[in-house]
Amino acid sequence: MTKLDYVYASATELLTYFRSDPDKILDYLEAIYDRIRKVEAKVRSYITLRSREEVEREAENVVKRLKQGEDLALAGIAVAVKDNISTRGIRTTCASRMLENYVPPYDATAVKLLKESGAVIIGKTNMDEFAMGSTTETSAFFPTRNPWDLERVPGGSSGGSAAALAAGEASLALGSDTGGSVRCPAAFTATVGLKPTYGLVSRFGLIAYASSLDQIGPMARTIADVALLLSVIAVHDPKDSTSIPRNGKTDYYFKLEELMSSRPRLRIAVVKELWRGLEEDVERVLHRILDRICGEHTCDEVSIPITRYALPAYYIIAMAEASSNLARYDGLRYGLHVDVEGRSWIEVFTEVRSRGFGFEVKKRIALGAFILSAGYQEQYYIRALRVRRLLKNEFDRVFKRFDLVALPSMPIKPPRLGEAITDPIKLYTMDIDTVIANLIGSPAISVPAGLAATLPVGIQFMGPPLSEEKLLYAGALVEELRRGAALKPPI
Ligand code: GLN
Repeated sequence: MTKLDYVYASATELLTYFRSDPDKILDYLEAIYDRIRKVEAKVRSYITLRSREEVEREAENVVKRLKQGEDLALAGIAVAVKDNISTRGIRTTCASRMLENYVPPYDATAVKLLKESGAVIIGKTNMDEFAMGSTTETSAFFPTRNPWDLERVPGGSSGGSAAALAAGEASLALGSDTGGSVRCPAAFTATVGLKPTYGLVSRFGLIAYASSLDQIGPMARTIADVALLLSVIAVHDPKDSTSIPRNGKTDYYFKLEELMSSRPRLRIAVVKELWRGLEEDVERVLHRILDRICGEHTCDEVSIPITRYALPAYYIIAMAEASSNLARYDGLRYGLHVDVEGRSWIEVFTEVRSRGFGFEVKKRIALGAFILSAGYQEQYYIRALRVRRLLKNEFDRVFKRFDLVALPSMPIKPPRLGEAITDPIKLYTMDIDTVIANLIGSPAISVPAGLAATLPVGIQFMGPPLSEEKLLYAGALVEELRRGAALKPPI
């Protein structure tokens, strides 16, 4: 076999290679660490990077297991994990001062499944603080930069995971998505990100932002790799009461191959309200790819006027849930430890929360508490829940006639550092096309559609609950259309 480009090879290619020669896993990890040494100072994907020695020791064990004939779905693959997903013995900060020194005593279920499949976790990636943001700039530590243009953001909140993939610092990654946090950075870095159906992947060990919207999502550079990773982490978990009951695992990779050979014709809905207000060059790239997809599949325009209330409904629900979820950071149960000698509870509590949380998090806790306060609940929260229900009804109707909805991932190109963060409206409206999937519990995927000048643009597909196979198939069709145009950043 010829030598692979370890750094940018897909997990699928690497696994075939390792199966015939397990010792190559160690060479591969060395190449990944060399790459990290070269680019990490510029990109800053990781909050915590594990030592090469520690990871090598773990990998040696994987090599041994492979040689003993064990079947390991992700043998030796370097995975980057977002820093709000608990990892036993590895610091998990949520990019917050509040959890700066928190080392979880247990693994999130998704992490446990990764380890069982022979994957090696090489580090914990940067994010917006408590996953609140779309640029990675609300991180309490530092912003991550976009490998396509170091002056721009990689998107967020799972920006570190996406940047690590794009820069060749990991082969697979986990992110989390409450209102777009896997799909936004995927779109901005020309990687693939999937937000699974609510309840498909266990949330056990995922530090909560807005529990009725949160999902852990697989991220990779190719559709096949996302399918592979999803197959490992999509397992019923009794530890998460919202986990969908089912038997065993689904092999999404195999299902994808089947669909790619039988090539069924998809019925795709284009919701016209969701194609408005795009930056011109983003629109051009998206239409070019959509037109080609619609040349081979059946596309129809539909109108869902209520989608204009999705964004306010999302922010009301997300902030209300966040204010309640983040109440646990009081310095006693969780959070910063400060001097308590001779001080009242309220003094200690105030200091912990003033010092522990950044501005965006405080703002959302305050707004969330206001939204839920007596007299205002009916006006905001209850109305937002109604919008959520109506949206669900409307999309249920659409999914009776169509397999999927096609929509932009992000209406704009990746902003420059500092550009979106200083303008809350700009920051929040970036999520206009991603929040719907979370509100209605649907799966959605962002796939690279091409470049607007030199910057990545992503197209999104959303389907009814448990339509992941079809989303992966649609993604693979886009990938096929782009064949030849390798999307590798200049870094
Ligand atoms: N940008 C959105 C927010 O700030 C979504 C974040 C996410 O999905 N975690 O709430």
